[in-house]
Amino acid sequence: MNVLGRPTYAEINVSAVIDNFRQMSALAGNSKTLAVIKADAYGHGAIAIAQALSDEAEGFAVAFIDEAIHLREHGILQPILLLEGVLNEAEMALAFELDFWVMLHRSEHFEWLRFLAPSQRPKVWIKVDTGMHRLGFGLAEINSVLREFADLLIYGSVLCSHLACADEQHNVFNIQQTQKLEALAVSHGLVFSLANSAGISQWPMSHGSWNRLGIALYGCAQPANNTQLKLKPVMTLTAPIIALRSLQKGESVGYGQSWVAQRKRPLLRWP
Ligand SMILES: *Cc1c(COP(=O)(O)O)cnc(C)c1O
Repeated sequence: MNVLGRPTYAEINVSAVIDNFRQMSALAGNSKTLAVIKADAYGHGAIAIAQALSDEAEGFAVAFIDEAIHLREHGILQPILLLEGVLNEAEMALAFELDFWVMLHRSEHFEWLRFLAPSQRPKVWIKVDTGMHRLGFGLAEINSVLREFADLLIYGSVLCSHLACADEQHNVFNIQQTQKLEALAVSHGLVFSLANSAGISQWPMSHGSWNRLGIALYGCAQPANNTQLKLKPVMTLTAPIIALRSLQKGESVGYGQSWVAQRKRPLLRWP
């Protein structure tokens, strides 16, 4: 590649994405997997990643509706879950037209759904706050919310929550969050979705009818205790070395002298 000035580039290995998707989904054989490609697929390029997974993933997830529209414009046909939901009634209506699934996390969202004719309502997920305290109905209100809006829930509505400490292998908070969500789902006859990447790889009890696979798709978050899983990095960043420097023991590098050579360094690469 011939680039003037700054020949640094990111190479994306789409076959690694497919391989990571297969390995991770295989850990949860009874669950379906949404590929999370928010924030431009964690910087890897949402269109390329969605296209690579178009024969693998049954659905995708992004944060906002503009990301989902962008995917539709590029021929992505699967359902797309909007993790942050929609911001007004017009977006709710558009979500139905474009087959986006909408996360409901405030009562207004149910009201917006009710304004639409029953045959024109998008599929919805309901977010419950089981401990993350970011988005979702609180545990004190969720039962009455689900009763109040029971007529708006259809077959396939998913009760959803997010794990706060899934990558902490011994943290009982994961068990508590899972038990709370599962009990709610059972009592309301709904399926649930809880596991993110770390939930999939190290908290089998958190596997729901849908899991939401993000960072591991890109080859990160390889759990230390699972040697069978061999996630492959999807991005390779390449940059030329622009200088080699020699340093004596005790000389420092950069602002604030934050790094000091502990020994003579004849060939220090920069950057
Ligand atoms: C980003 C996100 C995920 C994916 O999490 P990873 O840890 O990257 O697998 C799942 N669910 C929600 C709600 C998210 O925002």
